[in-house]
Amino acid sequence: MDSQAFRKHGTEMVEYICKYMETLKDRRVTPSVEPGYLRHLIPSEAPYEPEEWGRIMQDVEDKIMPGVTHWQHPRFHAYFPAGNAYESILGDMLGDGIGCIGFSWAASPACTELETIVLDWLGKAIGLPDHFLALKEGSTGGGVIQTSASECVLVSMLAARAQALKRLMAKHPNSEESHLLCKLIAYCSKEAHSCVEKAAMISFVKLRILEPDENASLRGRILAEAMEEDEQQGLVPFFVSTTLGTTGSCAFDSLEEIGKEIQRFPCIWLHVDAAYAGNSFICPELKPLLKGIEYADSFNTNPNKWLLTNFDCSTLWVRDRIRLTSALVVDPLYLKHCYDDAAIDYRHWGVPLSRRFRSLKLWFVLRSYGISGLQNYIRRHIELAKRFEQHVLKDKRFEICNQVKLGLVCFRLKGNDKLNEKLLSTINESGKLHMVPASVNDKYIIRFCAVAQNASEDDIDYAWETIVDFANELLEKEQHDELSEIINRKKEDTLAKKRSFFVRMVSDPKIYNPAINKAGTPNMSLDVTSPVVGNSRNPIIRTQASTDRNTWISWPLAFLFNSNNDEGGAKSNVSLR
Ligand code: PLP
Repeated sequence: MDSQAFRKHGTEMVEYICKYMETLKDRRVTPSVEPGYLRHLIPSEAPYEPEEWGRIMQDVEDKIMPGVTHWQHPRFHAYFPAGNAYESILGDMLGDGIGCIGFSWAASPACTELETIVLDWLGKAIGLPDHFLALKEGSTGGGVIQTSASECVLVSMLAARAQALKRLMAKHPNSEESHLLCKLIAYCSKEAHSCVEKAAMISFVKLRILEPDENASLRGRILAEAMEEDEQQGLVPFFVSTTLGTTGSCAFDSLEEIGKEIQRFPCIWLHVDAAYAGNSFICPELKPLLKGIEYADSFNTNPNKWLLTNFDCSTLWVRDRIRLTSALVVDPLYLKHCYDDAAIDYRHWGVPLSRRFRSLKLWFVLRSYGISGLQNYIRRHIELAKRFEQHVLKDKRFEICNQVKLGLVCFRLKGNDKLNEKLLSTINESGKLHMVPASVNDKYIIRFCAVAQNASEDDIDYAWETIVDFANELLEKEQHDELSEIINRKKEDTLAKKRSFFVRMVSDPKIYNPAINKAGTPNMSLDVTSPVVGNSRNPIIRTQASTDRNTWISWPLAFLFNSNNDEGGAKSNVSLR
């Protein structure tokens, strides 16, 4: 394609995107397809000869779009928002057009420098302490854009691990690093995102998963007690991942309590994962939710969730950039340049070497909306969530299951989990709305998130009316089914009684030997097959299978060890994913 054709097709593509956005509400929010649908529509081999642009675009509409879940659809209330402002799309397009790979300052100075500046802008707007800002006089910290919150948590954990190992090696110079590594233990709440567990698996460290309070918030005391207990067993607490705005119910760990409690642990690194909620702290009235941030070593939020910026744009700030980079630095000659010591090289701040010019889109968004425009957008979503909450509260058949502080409402029909599962699956199957479930306080709940960029009151009212319609139908059916079940059970009971009396007369020893009833149930032995710390009679650490305590340890690679899949090629019991 030459620039003349690019101009033509580029204009057409912008037109296609505009039309897509403007007519989005006429499409089904979720696709009605089955796994493998696309294999039947697209050839199994790439074309040998070039194809016409028009034919490719036709296939987009005919084959790709039917399998797309429309995250920008006004009926999409699942997960969290996926930023997609036009300003961001254009910024990304420019980054793609420039096509530089900014792994070092020299590889593209503007790519590196804009990232540093924009991260300082956003960090200030959020209200992060000065030590997180790269360009603040005397600061040792700074910000970086990563691909995802998962990566932010992983690199923070890797930095914490390196810091802890360095300290331990200084204390025990004759020890093997691997011996010290197996002593490290990280912590998070049961409500933390699963990426913390994944980071621990990759980092090859133990992770203790703690029970939060009734508001799904991890409390300082619970954490400190677990850390003390582990220290007594010879383990070394080195990393705590807290969450501000959990994925399940947008709950907030008690950062201030945690920060104070962990001061006495010398090796600890405190991370704050605020993937969704962190963006909202640009509003002055929401800054109290950030209380305790002064204790943190690192903080991440995803502008690609709730700040109108396209994926990927996960922003991570660290208190001490040397502690981060010293865990990740590798320095081959071909990547060196003459400003190595004077400039930031972001290749040392993360896992990949190559990096896109991602700060451009965030810069476009911040400048086009201004902080005030972004505050209005956040406040609007919160207002809409509160409106939805009011609808739920007015209907006594439903209950609210979280403290609605931001744009997420967790609710359920009063009744059992099955009923709520049924309600959600029928709504989702209808294609009229899309929501996802979560488990809060061990209950199945339905998450309703204000997602669409320009969501309106009408969208919220429509969603609620749709939910009520499905609930009415379901409850009516349940009542009818319950009645028929009672009648059927009565019939069966009478029949069974007649039958069982006859069978018991000939086969049940309890009928003629009352001593059998007194013997009770035989003792069930506790099968602790996983490695334990402490003596084997009183194991203090168990795998997630354990049910007799409210904490779990996720062992590095426990997943592999526990699977039945031996190397001999036994059939995997893990589903395709
Ligand atoms: N942390 C929290 C609190 C989240 O809500 C999510 C995703 O929703 C993640 C981490 C993972 O985000 P990512 O997909 O950017 O890795």
